[in-house]
Amino acid sequence: MSTLHKTDVAIIGAGPVGLFAVFQCGMLGFRCHVVDSLDAVGGQCVALYPEKPIYDIPGYPAIDAADLIVKLEQQAAPFAPVFHLGQQATGMERLPDGGGWRLTTSAGTVIEAGAVIIAAGAGAFGPNRPPIPGIEAYEGRSVHYMVKRREDFRGKRVVIAGGGDSAVDWALSLSEIARVMVVHRRPKFRAAFENVCRLEQLHAEGVLELVVPYQLQGLEGVDGRIEAVTVATLEGTVRRLEADALLAFFGLSTDLGPIAGWGLELERHHLAVDPASMVTSQPGIFAIGDVNAYPGKLKLILTGFAEAALAAHAIHPILRPDTALHFEYSTTRGVPGGVPA
Ligand code: FAD
Repeated sequence: MSTLHKTDVAIIGAGPVGLFAVFQCGMLGFRCHVVDSLDAVGGQCVALYPEKPIYDIPGYPAIDAADLIVKLEQQAAPFAPVFHLGQQATGMERLPDGGGWRLTTSAGTVIEAGAVIIAAGAGAFGPNRPPIPGIEAYEGRSVHYMVKRREDFRGKRVVIAGGGDSAVDWALSLSEIARVMVVHRRPKFRAAFENVCRLEQLHAEGVLELVVPYQLQGLEGVDGRIEAVTVATLEGTVRRLEADALLAFFGLSTDLGPIAGWGLELERHHLAVDPASMVTSQPGIFAIGDVNAYPGKLKLILTGFAEAALAAHAIHPILRPDTALHFEYSTTRGVPGGVPA
């Protein structure tokens, strides 16, 4: 069943640049709906490097990527954006009256908007799923590709699959509150040296178990709840690990996917825009952040922030053709609700 929403601006992508676009649009009086294929906002900052400090955000000598996203959410909050998370923007068509665009998502959401801002980064993120038949039935209940709340795993038997930083970091963290088994196809892990040393030490102490060199083979369970994970070596030795949850960390894939098929002019897998306004080859559809291309483009968060301001101002004459835009500083205009806490 589809749900129809009508709004001023539909934003595709809730990464740092999409979130700041909510603020910029809000300052000009536009309501926004934001779609992201991930279950959480933050784009690359949250999905790829939440705990890494960023040093080139103006005004912050250093800020962890996840903290920057919290600040951007707070900055956007007074404008009450509506988020549609965990769904990919799949379709885009011009409204019959020419007064905007109809965006559809993989979850059946339909958003009709006067203008669209595509802030889709490198494309929709999705987990690289292990090739286990029937795994979809467990996803979101007992099979996860990211940890939203560490506490959800307290006291549980957790199989962690993967050999990179995410697998090792979460194995170390969850071993404090859960019974952890780490499955990796090789004895060598590709993660920070000191964390790998700590992992091996905890294995030697019996705090967690390294199940190597094994690969995931199958799942046993009922009603979306796993009871055991079966793993196998290349030689065919099989083990059955009784478990309550499987965390699979095989990285994320990106896919410009449906956006590439919307008839917008592309430049080497990016959306070509006019650098003065960020408009794409379709009037009313704008592209900002990592997804766009123009001469001299720098793929930086701060560049995306400035592009969000340019796009919002370029959208004004489309949404408010009868009202002249008088440029105002934020210091003059203020934000709804006054100074944020
Ligand atoms: P993204 O952060 O990529 O967000 C795009 C969002 O759009 C994603 O959440 C994606 O799921 C969603 N999306 C895409 N397509 C769809 C669709 N069809 N439907 C629904 N959702 C969709 N930059 C700096 O400025 N300074 C740094 O120090 C820095 N360090 C970095 C370190 C690392 C390890 C990495 C990987 C990047 C770093 N960057 C840094 C780059 C920075 O993270 C990116 O420039 C920034 O994230 C781009 O923001 P964005 O909002 O344009 O796109």
